Amino acid sequence: MSRILIIEDEVAIADLEKDYLELSDFQVEICHTGDEGLKLALKENFDLIILDLMLPEMDGFEVCKKIREQKNIPILMVSAKKDDIDKIRGLGLGADDYLTKPFSPSELVARVKAHLARYERLVGVNAKPRNDIVEIRGIRIDKTARRVYVEGKEKTFTTKEFDLLTFLAENPNHVFTKEELFRHIWDMDSIGDIATVTVHIKKIREKIETDTSKPQYIETIWGVGYRFKV
Ligand code: CA
Repeated sequence: MSRILIIEDEVAIADLEKDYLELSDFQVEICHTGDEGLKLALKENFDLIILDLMLPEMDGFEVCKKIREQKNIPILMVSAKKDDIDKIRGLGLGADDYLTKPFSPSELVARVKAHLARYERLVGVNAKPRNDIVEIRGIRIDKTARRVYVEGKEKTFTTKEFDLLTFLAENPNHVFTKEELFRHIWDMDSIGDIATVTVHIKKIREKIETDTSKPQYIETIWGVGYRFKV
């Protein structure tokens, strides 16, 4: 799933862009200031950036220049003024495309797709290793990014909850005792008892199950342990 960063101070526009991009299966983050956007763009791995020109703290020209010093991902610049586009071109900041507000969300999505496709051809498929994904019915576990999506919605998991869920999901239909799970997920020397496993299973269920009294994913095998149902 491609990740897109929107740097846009107008909340309504940013949200609209996000909604449309998410409908096209992109994963989207928003920053409302240039400064914050630049930091996130450099810290995390995005596949494309949508960058507004007029921003508080640091404007889009500066943000674009600074991102370009370190990253070659596509940058789509957005501006309310047609004149700005000539300026962006003239400055040779390395933006890949320009859109003038107002634009239709579908046009934005089309441009984003085109640039991502071009960029992927350019860098080659091998340059960007695919994330290691475990997918069972409505649950998608991105092992590389350590993120979990339930019916498309991201849920937050603690390290141990994530490890436990991933372990069970990677070994579906296999019944594990609490002792086995404890040994696998917590290191041997850690202080704790197997009741920790029960507590973690409960927390995981609250995040992945629609009805925790009738679990559809992690099944309790009474007197034995747990099993991830396929
Ligand atoms: Ca703006």
